[in-house]
Amino acid sequence: MSRLSSILLSAFAIPMALSMSSCQQSTAKEVQSVEIADTQDSEAAVQAVADEPAKTITMAFTGDILMGTNLPDSSYITRDRGRSLFADCDSIIRSADLAIGNLEGACYYGTKAEITKNISSGKCFVFRMPGDHAQRLVDAGFDAVGIANNHAGDCGATGRRLTQENLRNVGIAFSGQKGGAEEAYVERNGVKYGYLAFAASCGNTNDMNNAAARDALIKKMRPQCDILVVSFHGGAEGTSACHVPFKSETFYGENRGDVHKFAHECIDQGVDIVIGHGPHVPRAVELYNGHFIAYSLGNFCAPFRMSIAGATGLAPLLCVQLDAKTGEFQSGKIHSLKQVKGVGPRLDATCAAARNIGTLTKQDFPNGKLVVEDDGTITMK
Ligand SMILES: [Zn+2]
Repeated sequence: MSRLSSILLSAFAIPMALSMSSCQQSTAKEVQSVEIADTQDSEAAVQAVADEPAKTITMAFTGDILMGTNLPDSSYITRDRGRSLFADCDSIIRSADLAIGNLEGACYYGTKAEITKNISSGKCFVFRMPGDHAQRLVDAGFDAVGIANNHAGDCGATGRRLTQENLRNVGIAFSGQKGGAEEAYVERNGVKYGYLAFAASCGNTNDMNNAAARDALIKKMRPQCDILVVSFHGGAEGTSACHVPFKSETFYGENRGDVHKFAHECIDQGVDIVIGHGPHVPRAVELYNGHFIAYSLGNFCAPFRMSIAGATGLAPLLCVQLDAKTGEFQSGKIHSLKQVKGVGPRLDATCAAARNIGTLTKQDFPNGKLVVEDDGTITMK
């Protein structure tokens, strides 16, 4: 049995205890209902038991996480080896029932690598986070990461294998790689979460441009979880790519997907929430048939080797409350952080990330149902 299996099993054991206590509560409610229903028919009594208040869950999401890189050398790692990277936001991430980010690179011990890119020009970067930095994700409160992106394969099949081993060893679930790491399941507080990460034109990852394969994965996972999450790494990149274009995007000659079509189709297939990243800048949020979509959460942790100028320096941390039974959006909050070079994301009292997403949401979805207040509070119109 793998270590992850035992972690997951122990995660199942706690909810069992929790559900036992909730059973005891419902027994008490049942007695009460029967007494009240003395003069009513028995159907009404059964209904009273069934109408327990819906349970709300809180999920936290971030965009790209690159906790430094030891390629080309260790000058791109913080002096405390990443221990302070998430100091300003770990309490927020930990307070969520489940937290997911996009791991934008390999992360493993040692130097083994099959570099898959031509880095001689100095313009193409290879991202390899030191192995001990996986623990920083755990310490910050992340439960799962997406490994479907354009840097997870920077160190070849060896890097992918060692990264997955490393994540498994620290107990972080992951999704996104064909050949056995397509999907992830995590149970927290009695709720079973399924997670599927997709990317566009990123080698051997779950492909957001292959609708048939996507729908087959969703169909397989949907009955096995309460909440089904999809993330995608798609869309063009940079400060000229802030808007949802409502069509396929091409970048570096690659098909980076039609993010709007993809997100809507996922929800049509039964997905509860869709979270995007890849453009390195935030984009709008949308409510579609009661379900939440974030089109890009931009960069979240980029202390080195990524541009942090303008909107690329915004680091939104999204928290959403969903109905645990239906997966429908209830409320949300965008915590605004910004990149500090060599340090990591730090809270931003000017709330620039939230204001940016609020403005884009008004522009791109003028008839949409969501409002993002300047302080980051997300409400329904
Ligand atoms: Zn990327």
